[in-house]
Amino acid sequence: MATQRILDFLATRRPSGPCLVVDLDVVRDNFRAFEKAMPESKVYYAVKANPAPEILRLLAGMGSSFDTASVAEIEMAMDAGAPAERISFGNTIKKERDIARAFELGIRLFAVDSVEEVEKVARAAPGSRVFCRVLTDGEGAEWPLSRKFGCVPAMAVDVLRVSKSLGLDAYGVSFHVGSQQTDLTAWDRALADAKKVFAKLAEEGIMLGMVNMGGGFPTRYLRDVPAAQAYGQAIFEALSKHFGNNIPETIIEPGRGMVGNAGVIKSEVVLISKKADNDNVRWVFLDIGKFGGLAETMDEAIRYPIVTDRDGDEVAPCVLAGPTCDSADVMYEKTPYPLPLSLTIGDEVLIEGTGAYTTTYSSVAFNGFEPLRSYVI
Ligand code: PLP
Repeated sequence: MATQRILDFLATRRPSGPCLVVDLDVVRDNFRAFEKAMPESKVYYAVKANPAPEILRLLAGMGSSFDTASVAEIEMAMDAGAPAERISFGNTIKKERDIARAFELGIRLFAVDSVEEVEKVARAAPGSRVFCRVLTDGEGAEWPLSRKFGCVPAMAVDVLRVSKSLGLDAYGVSFHVGSQQTDLTAWDRALADAKKVFAKLAEEGIMLGMVNMGGGFPTRYLRDVPAAQAYGQAIFEALSKHFGNNIPETIIEPGRGMVGNAGVIKSEVVLISKKADNDNVRWVFLDIGKFGGLAETMDEAIRYPIVTDRDGDEVAPCVLAGPTCDSADVMYEKTPYPLPLSLTIGDEVLIEGTGAYTTTYSSVAFNGFEPLRSYVI
């Protein structure tokens, strides 16, 4: 939702061109909601969702930890005031020299999902803590993370066993149930797998201490989503079911759920046209598209709420597309988007729920369009 602060900012500053406006009050509320819903879990904000320095500074000041994907993200979190012990290098795919640099910066917590990666960490970050990511099916997620990350639980056992033998601290198991996950039982399935790894290694005397339950917490787009409290309850029940009275240390890594609803993109209608006189589907071209920050419209996965000054007028389906000369720059066509028939070239539209995974996807001057500007208020 566009908050009053965002609407006031747009009305007074009248920025030209597409831009994202993020309301820090909403981020603050989201952080508190996660802490309240999962009081036993440490929050590691997934920097990739939106690395704006103002957001990182706010969260660092509130005591958040940070999940990072690269040395650049580690440095951004540190610049924002996060000490190294509150940062994890959560990418399972790292260059050895980046691991070494992270180690130099003081990072001691690394994600792995293969023996090959463990060997790199053992060489470049000796003695560090590692957690092994297990695969999930991503069912129920609108933006599943597929098979790219993680390994099956039996292999995670090997990976952690090798970690130990190479002098690392075999610390725990991680998973990510897929982004924009609205199935509360997804964590139960993943925690069952995590428990298998704990149990198997315990038989060998390797006692793991942590489960990293990843991100996946949704933000509201067109449909209501369960509140953080519902996730907290479902996760607590799943942890109790699988770990009984021995619930290990837990981490969550919210990205979308932390900043998604804090941001709104202001955009403008550049053209409304048809492909034939008797077509009843209009093509609406905005000054932002897949390459300007709305990459998650790929395969029409994420459907953003779009607000216009003409809401309330009669609507009809539109194909919604971006402004670049790339034919892939079409956002909604398979399922056309209902927009007011009265919509006109030059109208401003607000694209809500765009605080996460937008600015960072915006490419540098593709087709000469500026990367998405961002204001954090
Ligand atoms: N943790 C890791 C390792 C991730 O790769 C991601 C997203 O890709 C996140 C957390 C954040 O996920 P989400 O935005 O669904 O909360």
